Amino acid sequence: MRETGNKRNTHKKSTLALLLVLLIAAAFFVMSDTPFIKGARDALMQKLGYEAIDQSAEEGEDDGSDSGSAAKAGSFDLEAGELPEWEGNHYVQVNDGVPEFPDDVYERAGINSGKLTPFEYYGSLDDLGRCTYAYGCLGEETMPPEGQDRGDISSVHPSGWAKAQNWERCHLIAWALSDENANPSNLVTGTHYLNYDGMRPLEEEVEHYIWNTGNHVLYMAKPWFRDDELVPRGVQMIARSVEDKGKGISFNVYCFNVTPEAEINYKTGIVTTSEQAVQDARTYVINTRSGVFHYPTCDGVKEMSEHNKKTVTATRTELTSQGYTPCGYCEP
Ligand SMILES: [Zn+2]
Repeated sequence: MRETGNKRNTHKKSTLALLLVLLIAAAFFVMSDTPFIKGARDALMQKLGYEAIDQSAEEGEDDGSDSGSAAKAGSFDLEAGELPEWEGNHYVQVNDGVPEFPDDVYERAGINSGKLTPFEYYGSLDDLGRCTYAYGCLGEETMPPEGQDRGDISSVHPSGWAKAQNWERCHLIAWALSDENANPSNLVTGTHYLNYDGMRPLEEEVEHYIWNTGNHVLYMAKPWFRDDELVPRGVQMIARSVEDKGKGISFNVYCFNVTPEAEINYKTGIVTTSEQAVQDARTYVINTRSGVFHYPTCDGVKEMSEHNKKTVTATRTELTSQGYTPCGYCEP
């Protein structure tokens, strides 16, 4: 017994020593600036699919990957017109992510009086016909009844809306939270990137929270315009759950109304698609019976019967040249 114990100890010691040597070698290999080793390292990284990393250039950079992502808190002051520049994230934190609302929100919601009151309020359009803000105390009371379909919103042309520019009518307070359809005070001209990739995950977070808990959420969405432009540069979204004092839901973010593959004229709503984007294929859903093609997220797709549905990866030009027509609603 004793002998075995000793043997095990010796074995343990030599294993540790070996590990230490390996660690030092690995650290040397990773950090060394000796050209020979550096070369070998870069070759290995390339083999593994990484670019050679220049650490001095990497600091503070973000690769703008496509996952729903937030950048670090910015020090910009939205009220003073300091709108953050898009650097690849769907949104950035405002006020370090801490939600704060106008006094009116707390008052109407009865936060201080202790009598919680669900409500929605939509600010009127400004002189240029632009949405101002929407807020409320959201709960099951403000949401559409289960099983109800969204209504038609194609009659609304928000400020900056230009035909055939891939714009989406973007709800300030999502239909699923507000049951608001063609309310012009609640719809802004937005990109798919803003509507679907930026705002929607946050809206769904709130929606699921309400369904799961039956609690309420103070909520505000506000488009931010630069000077007299008609298309918002971004939409600020603020939310805080009431009953659990922000434990379930708490955010304050600015979502970018941009589209990675094109230039937007925020005064006119004209989108100049880059050469690359025209060539880039994306996913569309074709209604084989009508010959109309949609973005996969379009309500028209939900209503389409399965056997008319055909999902393709193609460029817009390919589809139009094959005789398909872009949907007038989602305007792909
Ligand atoms: Zn469509």
